[in-house]
Amino acid sequence: MLSALIASAAAMVAIVGVRYLLVSGAFALATARVRPGLYNGLKPQIRREIAWSLSAAVVYGVPAGIIAWGWQERGWTRIYAEWDAMPLWWLPVSLFLYLFAHDTWFYWTHRLMHRPRWFKVMHAVHHASRPPTAWAAMAFHWTESLTGALVIPVLVFLLPVHVSVLSLVLTIMTVMGVTNHMGWEMFPRALVHSRLGNWLITASHHQRHHEEYKCNYGLYFRFWDHLCGTDRGLSRRWQQP
Ligand SMILES: [Zn+2]
Ligand SMILES: [Zn+2]
Repeated sequence: MLSALIASAAAMVAIVGVRYLLVSGAFALATARVRPGLYNGLKPQIRREIAWSLSAAVVYGVPAGIIAWGWQERGWTRIYAEWDAMPLWWLPVSLFLYLFAHDTWFYWTHRLMHRPRWFKVMHAVHHASRPPTAWAAMAFHWTESLTGALVIPVLVFLLPVHVSVLSLVLTIMTVMGVTNHMGWEMFPRALVHSRLGNWLITASHHQRHHEEYKCNYGLYFRFWDHLCGTDRGLSRRWQQP
């Protein structure tokens, strides 16, 4: 049993690590084409971003691997694979609830980590990227990774989720984590500057968090930032005259 558990944890660490390298690598390549020279002179920083991100893959992968083993072998969690186990309307609702719950957890822990004492230990690593690149998606100190690594493993015990919705949540988490840091906006202006865009977080919004620190703390949605008065809007540097 123990060896199967260790194998599952190791496999998940490898999956998270390779997923990071592939997605960040793909968007770094896209950046080189769309914004040539944007990462010039950032090689030492990128090396640090990759090292921290791979260490975060261990922190993320181990609990995920344990949960995956428990799901397969012991029937743990409320992850389901049959399409008729829950009504179909639950698919989009559960997707939203997972994103919203993760966003809520992220917003409040992120604000806490911006208190000076917490910042030094937990969050300074992430902000050492100035400006961040596509490789900074998981550049976290292990204490910060730990706060993020436990969210989904706890949620799968609380909220039923179809396995395909869960993989969609993980895909959104990975892609937005990379693109929010890559230094340019990939979504069309018509969306980013729309009413809907006023509630969604993309690169233009998170960039401003990296420029000014004390604002724009959210992960996917601007709900908590709007409610708590911490939303300062989009990065000014990118706004076209
Ligand atoms: Zn960031
Ligand atoms: Zn921060």
